[in-house]
Amino acid sequence: MSTYNKVMQKKPREILSNNNISITNPRLLVIEELLSIKKPIAIEDLQIRLKNTVAISTLYRVISDLKSINILEEIISPDNITMIELSLLDTSHHHHMFCEKCRDVIDIELSEVFENKLDNEIRTLENKLQMKINDHGLELFGVCKRCLKN
Ligand SMILES: [Zn+2]
Ligand SMILES: [Zn+2]
Repeated sequence: MSTYNKVMQKKPREILSNNNISITNPRLLVIEELLSIKKPIAIEDLQIRLKNTVAISTLYRVISDLKSINILEEIISPDNITMIELSLLDTSHHHHMFCEKCRDVIDIELSEVFENKLDNEIRTLENKLQMKINDHGLELFGVCKRCLKN
């Protein structure tokens, strides 16, 4: 569940072929854009960035393709905006901090000590409640560095 490897710089083409999905231009463009953004982005904003290269309907199809092979994750912001980010196997497990002023989303890595404690807690809960828990999420809400300065 928790991996602490640093994000490796991967080429979009490599990502697609590693996941046994055919290499198409729109898929390459979407992955390239998400790799360069390096954090969650609202689908609408991605649409604006790609408007001259990828048609809207194509963009939605690519998003669903990438989701189906588990390399793209959706995050719902506090104001209910769907955001996406790449979730590659070598992307470290992380959390998100939502800025309530500028609506930015910042990737947050919590300490290994904390994550291990949380994992232990979850194992204890599994035993107690007789359930299987596969993952956890934890969102932080506040004001980002840039907004604090202004
Ligand atoms: Zn902010
Ligand atoms: Zn965690």
